[in-house]
Amino acid sequence: MKNKKFKGISTLTLHTANKENNNSSHTTPIYATSTFTFDTAEEGMERFAGTDKTKLYTRWGNPTFAAAEQTIEALEAHGLTNEKGEPLQLKALLHSSGQAAMSTLFLSNLSAGDTLISHFSLYGGTQELMQKILTEAGIKTILIDVRDSALLKQTIEANKNVKLIHLESPANPTLQCVDIENICKIAHAHGVKVSVDNTVATPYLQQPFALGADFVFHSATKFLNGHGSALNGVLLGKDLEFMKTKVWKWHVLLGGNSNAFDSYLLIQGMKTLEVRMERHCSNTAKVAQFLDKHEAIEKVNYTGLTSHPDHAIASKQMKEHAPLISFELKGGIEAGKKFLDALEVCTRAVSLGTVDTLVSHPASMTHYGIPREERIKYGITDGLIRMSVGIENYEDLEADLAQALSKI
Ligand SMILES: *Cc1c(COP(=O)(O)O)cnc(C)c1O
Repeated sequence: MKNKKFKGISTLTLHTANKENNNSSHTTPIYATSTFTFDTAEEGMERFAGTDKTKLYTRWGNPTFAAAEQTIEALEAHGLTNEKGEPLQLKALLHSSGQAAMSTLFLSNLSAGDTLISHFSLYGGTQELMQKILTEAGIKTILIDVRDSALLKQTIEANKNVKLIHLESPANPTLQCVDIENICKIAHAHGVKVSVDNTVATPYLQQPFALGADFVFHSATKFLNGHGSALNGVLLGKDLEFMKTKVWKWHVLLGGNSNAFDSYLLIQGMKTLEVRMERHCSNTAKVAQFLDKHEAIEKVNYTGLTSHPDHAIASKQMKEHAPLISFELKGGIEAGKKFLDALEVCTRAVSLGTVDTLVSHPASMTHYGIPREERIKYGITDGLIRMSVGIENYEDLEADLAQALSKI
């Protein structure tokens, strides 16, 4: 990573990526190549023996991936220092999707006989990965309310091989937030590491390494890309030695590498992260106020509302409130269907973090794989609607919501 110091996030996302190329291309070139050439046998030997793994074979690394990784490292480390007061150095590994990055995270940190602690209301794919693949690999997952410090301590102590606590804050789609700093303190006192899914907040709103996290995860498919044009996942760690040895090895052997075109789209998308987030956040605050006052709405989940149970912790650990909300219509599932069908500006689609507003129904879409009783327990009720608020002009969003609500 280049050691350039930038005061602001936009300058950083515009100027960090290495534009390494012989043809003076303004944007980072798309290195669409599986392998890299050596002029001599000697050069090949030297490259294999060296620490730069970006010019050997693309499953091991690629200059386009490296440029995306450098920008994400700079974003998550922006303004932070290590214990010695030096600028924090991170290692990011770009993957083909969030799920691929999550697989590397779990499998490089946990093995048969180990225990993972996490909480309710996780992204559906994360919970299924834990319950299906990790369980078959002999890794036990315990889901508890990690906001309860006494319960967390007791669970760590009652299970000998607890190696990792995985957090998602804010969580998708209930917007539950957990106190990352407090949980890291408890975990570290017991020799347990902590990983944080920072997809919904993005480094613009929250930097988990500042709160003590050991690993940060992103589905870069969402706000980091911002345009819904590609899938990517990223795993970052601050233990550089561990990241460059075991975690890198597991990443390479599991084969979850990205590709040059999707990495290029991610690099382009990240350039506008800050300006997009400013608009996403201000629109969301207004949408939440509008929905909260509407007579057809039973309940709005948005951490910026004082009625949200985690409003205080969200306000403490995030710069602003994340641009994701969910809400319950008084008319339940039937009203939900009519509402979705009546939308004319908002896009009906799963996923989140795109420039346009996306509206989905978690119970029948993203959380379909989770048994009904279980998801209801986590707050994902039948009539819950999730909205990832885009950067449209606010007046158009409000008009669309008002007309759709009038039709239910
Ligand atoms: C989308 C998402 C994932 C999974 O990422 P993919 O890129 O779809 O594989 C994980 N966590 C959260 C919070 C997500 O929104």
